[in-house]
Amino acid sequence: MNLRVGSGFDLHRLKHGRPFILGGVLLDWPAGPYGHSDGDPLTHALADALLGASGLGDIGDHFPDNDPAWRDCPGETILTQVMDKVRAAGFEVVNADMTVFLQAPKLKTRKQAIRETLSRWMGIESGQICLKAKTAEGFDALGRGDCIAAQVTILLQSRQK
Ligand code: MG
Repeated sequence: MNLRVGSGFDLHRLKHGRPFILGGVLLDWPAGPYGHSDGDPLTHALADALLGASGLGDIGDHFPDNDPAWRDCPGETILTQVMDKVRAAGFEVVNADMTVFLQAPKLKTRKQAIRETLSRWMGIESGQICLKAKTAEGFDALGRGDCIAAQVTILLQSRQK
């Protein structure tokens, strides 16, 4: 079997008044990730992991943050376009293992919705995605709730035997 592993990381500042969209799901919280696009760090880390495993570069190569075309771009657009590129390169997703680092809000009740949303956008089963959440134990910018980060590891297999 021809397997390819990829990793992705992203971090965004949390800004008061921004919608908190994580993995495509709107969370009820007074601050949210700030970025040129929608600032969704989980979707961005996932897209970077997919591109890395496929040997297609990084998210900045495909969706430059100085290009007005991608301003406020929704994660769904980025992820579905990345999946089209991954499939065109001959790969399918085996599984994705994702960790979100944030102090608050708690993700426990929203994890399933995030897994279902991301798997729907990717055209895979939600069982192929695992989502974990960690706090930063109150330390540094993550612990103060000034930012949110996400880390993703993904495994792809080639359709060619
Ligand atoms: Mg980002």
